[in-house]
Amino acid sequence: MQIIDTIYIDGAFVTPHGDEMFDLFNPATEQVIGRVRLADAEDARAAIAAAKRAFPAFSRTDKRERIDMLERMHAAVIAREDALYEAITVEYGAPVSRGRWMARHASSVLLDAAQLLRDYPFTRRAGTAEVTMQPLGVAGLITPWNSDAGFICGKLAAALAAGCTAVVKPSEMSAMQTHIVTEALHDAGLPPGVFNIVTGRGDTVGAEISAHPDVAKLSFTGSTAVGKTILRTGAETLKRVTLELGGKSPVIVLDDADFEQAVPLALQAGFMNSGQACIAGTRILVPHTRLAEFEARVKQEMEQVHAGDPRDPQTTIGPMVSRKQWDRVQRYIRIGIDEGARLIAGGEGRPEGVDAGWFVRPTIFGDVTNEMTIAREEIFGPVLSIIAYHDTEESIRIANDTPYGLQAYVLSGDIQRAHAVASRIEAGRVLVNTLAHDPAAPFGGFKQSGIGREYGTFGLEAFLEPRSVLGVL
Ligand code: NAD
Repeated sequence: MQIIDTIYIDGAFVTPHGDEMFDLFNPATEQVIGRVRLADAEDARAAIAAAKRAFPAFSRTDKRERIDMLERMHAAVIAREDALYEAITVEYGAPVSRGRWMARHASSVLLDAAQLLRDYPFTRRAGTAEVTMQPLGVAGLITPWNSDAGFICGKLAAALAAGCTAVVKPSEMSAMQTHIVTEALHDAGLPPGVFNIVTGRGDTVGAEISAHPDVAKLSFTGSTAVGKTILRTGAETLKRVTLELGGKSPVIVLDDADFEQAVPLALQAGFMNSGQACIAGTRILVPHTRLAEFEARVKQEMEQVHAGDPRDPQTTIGPMVSRKQWDRVQRYIRIGIDEGARLIAGGEGRPEGVDAGWFVRPTIFGDVTNEMTIAREEIFGPVLSIIAYHDTEESIRIANDTPYGLQAYVLSGDIQRAHAVASRIEAGRVLVNTLAHDPAAPFGGFKQSGIGREYGTFGLEAFLEPRSVLGVL
């Protein structure tokens, strides 16, 4: 049993003032595998004070120094990749290939930021003014459990590249992963206070960070409901706020798509990260004319989809992170059945032969209309809906008929046609015949999927504010 009883403030591992002990679980076995001592609001204030003290000197560092720091952070995280992968497996239950990707992603985002910084012009000219992009101040970075290390490192990379100092509040359910990342980042030898990591509850530590007058910027990834609370709280001191929230992403299968490629791609888009992905393609829009063919192919392809032991290389879907998430997914499967959707695969309960762990049956519903609850609300588990459409116009209308707008997928045999459809989708990212991520491309949501963008230049500028000086040029 691992006990984690320190947080990271002002360049040192310290015992939190908070004294609540919180159980950490292996979701594949439901066993308690560790305990973490949670920080409280007083710890958050100490972390914010340390970041505030570090800001004047750090904000004046030049690009070269910050690139150097990001490269050291990258090297330190990559050195812990195996330990991180292990923690991702036991504490989160990611299947092998996903877990490996997550462990690598945590370091690569740091290198991406270093690369970005090289070519970024902090000073430019606008009319008669010299415009300088200034770091905002102390950044509060609040992250969820579904890609703990990646979100911590990605948000830190952008904040520090910009010259902000930071207080990170990761999910309390990911303390083992956070601890490994923290140890790695400590090894990178940054000045004390530049980053601080306080694992605690959202309604104490998260709320304190969201409200504190010395925090200038909030960058949050998590649920839409909590995002709205953070926006309201941050409004009191006019914090700059970036919100990366939920999604109900459409996968538009055009009538010319080659199902040999389109069906596996659609299932991967829907089931990625065991369905616990904000960008999961959970509404699969299929032309009526080819619906039977599509569904038959889906049934066939589902033979390759295995929910079970995350360490088994055959596994494509791991457990849900918690009992709460398991219950939530079960509830939505029941709602789907009750509202008249037809089960094509999966259903309620655990997969056959599995009697422990928060595993769900990979589920696909047919006969879904876009008005049904399972088509409107984010489930955050491996539950997909197939919705039939008559023509391309209708597919676009259905795709956009959602309160969300994070990501969309268009699958077609004709790139130009797919491009034309993509250009009419209300989503921050539209992927055509691919699932590939590009760290230079902005990422974030239209509508209730969020505010602002992460990654690339847009992500960097979310931590900067322009200052114009006139009369000097
Ligand atoms: P959550 O909103 O419950 O929690 C996210 C973080 O916010 C956690 O660290 C939590 O402790 C903290 N928090 C909770 N209440 C808070 C409060 N009142 N003030 C400040 N902080 C608070 O989300 P979750 O259950 O951890 O993650 C799942 C959700 O995250 C899903 O809805 C998913 O769509 C979303 N998500 C979005 C993205 C994206 O990039 N858009 C990525 C991953 C996950």
